Amino acid sequence: MSFTLAIVGRPNVGKSTLFNRLVGKRLALVDDQPGVTRDLREGAARLGDLRFTVIDTAGLEDATDDSLQGRMRRLTERAVDMADVCLFMIDARTGITPTDQIFAEILRKRAKHVILAANKAEGRAADAGVIEAYSLGLGEPLRMSAEHGEGMGDLLAELMPLAEEFEEQAEETAPDTDVTLSEEEAEEGIADLRWPTPEKPMQIAVVGRPNAGKSTLINKLLGEDRLLTGPEAGITRDAISLQVDWDGLPVRIWDTAGMRKKARVQDKVEKLSVADGLRAVKFAEVVIVLLDAAIPFEQQDLRIADLAEREGRAVVVAVNKWDVEDEKQQKLRDLKEAFARLLPQLRGAPLVTVSAKTGRGLDRLREAVERAYTVWNTRVPTAQLNRWLTGMVEAHPPPAPQGRRIKLRYMTQAKTRPPGFVVMSSHPDKMPDSYTRYLVNGLRESFDMPGTPIRLYMRGQG
Ligand code: GDP
Ligand code: GDP
Repeated sequence: MSFTLAIVGRPNVGKSTLFNRLVGKRLALVDDQPGVTRDLREGAARLGDLRFTVIDTAGLEDATDDSLQGRMRRLTERAVDMADVCLFMIDARTGITPTDQIFAEILRKRAKHVILAANKAEGRAADAGVIEAYSLGLGEPLRMSAEHGEGMGDLLAELMPLAEEFEEQAEETAPDTDVTLSEEEAEEGIADLRWPTPEKPMQIAVVGRPNAGKSTLINKLLGEDRLLTGPEAGITRDAISLQVDWDGLPVRIWDTAGMRKKARVQDKVEKLSVADGLRAVKFAEVVIVLLDAAIPFEQQDLRIADLAEREGRAVVVAVNKWDVEDEKQQKLRDLKEAFARLLPQLRGAPLVTVSAKTGRGLDRLREAVERAYTVWNTRVPTAQLNRWLTGMVEAHPPPAPQGRRIKLRYMTQAKTRPPGFVVMSSHPDKMPDSYTRYLVNGLRESFDMPGTPIRLYMRGQG
């Protein structure tokens, strides 16, 4: 089963160098939008026989001195929360700095597993730094040189037992395949749902085109005029995230307007707000795509919604300025039709009409957010999945390229948030996308997972 490794540490210690080494040529995945700095880069990594997801907290170099500490902290915390294992990197040539200490503190408090890596450790110049690293209280430092590829075997040796542990955990939570489940047990799909607490609030991003009403909505939720709103697009504001108790639901809301002040030139506004969306989506668990009822589902809205889906976030579509709509019934029908047609990848995601200005519909929005979050956390027991798989295969067998039918042997849910499934197959590489789609749509229907992105991986048995 796959796990996630986050590479954290202060700027310039060599995080990106290691990231690139682990991800190799597949880096193309990472940044397809020129000029957009993504704070958290994610890639498919490979080390020996291990395959996993790696997250790099890139992009900190751009921060000014004032904001560096705060951003670094937030970004690191976010990466740590997303990861199963953290690789905390220090620069053995420089030795331990006060900033390293801050990182160590965050990791000690927050991370599940930490691997301390003393990088740039090729040659004797690094010896003192490696020894100093013990003082961080995170165990024995692993000597490495990301640039020269040294220490990769040791890293693999540290990751192997952890990878096995994650695999065992996944198996433990899965019941015996022969068991017949009762209705109640079947309902327990969301049993391990981590419900948000004030310490770990639900992370929400409100994204949408300029003037959709994002700030108005956030202000309404905060109950006071904390953010500037105005009719002209591109108004200057600071990037901001605020925590609030939304009728009993602890949430942290990310406003995405901050980067707009970089958009001096009017025609850049459109582009940048997509970049804003991109940034906020990375932080979010639930993404509220806010549309302006007068101009819904514009190109830009579609791109942001699609991005949220591709990033694997729970998505809720909210149509704003509903107070000024006259033909509400007809309009709602049109909206639903357009939604189904233009965003098939988000089939079943909630669509809620609201007025950020008057506050109407915000209670329904809250419910939709809660529901989307719950679905995003769904866990389906393995026994149930395998019975389901048998039924699906009987109803519609996989193809038989060159006369040999592809066999689907076994299936399990590898992850939640969003739900991810692994199917063991005799020829995973020959499986056509259409069959994968058939299974994904079936999962969505059978286990009631509307709207949430679903990942399905075909694996060979090896
Ligand atoms: P990041 O800011 O932490 O992502 O750091 P980078 O990966 O951008 O690396 C910062 C600098 O350190 C670059 O000039 C790298 O070439 C250099 N660097 C990275 N790894 C090593 C290493 O193992 N040894 C040495 N000597 N330099 C390295
Ligand atoms: P942002 O650019 O997405 O943050 O949008 P703003 O919150 O700044 O809102 C843009 C404009 O739309 C402002 O003039 C708001 O007063 C107006 N607006 C926002 N929400 C509503 C709403 O629910 N109804 C109406 N009629 N106007 C709204």
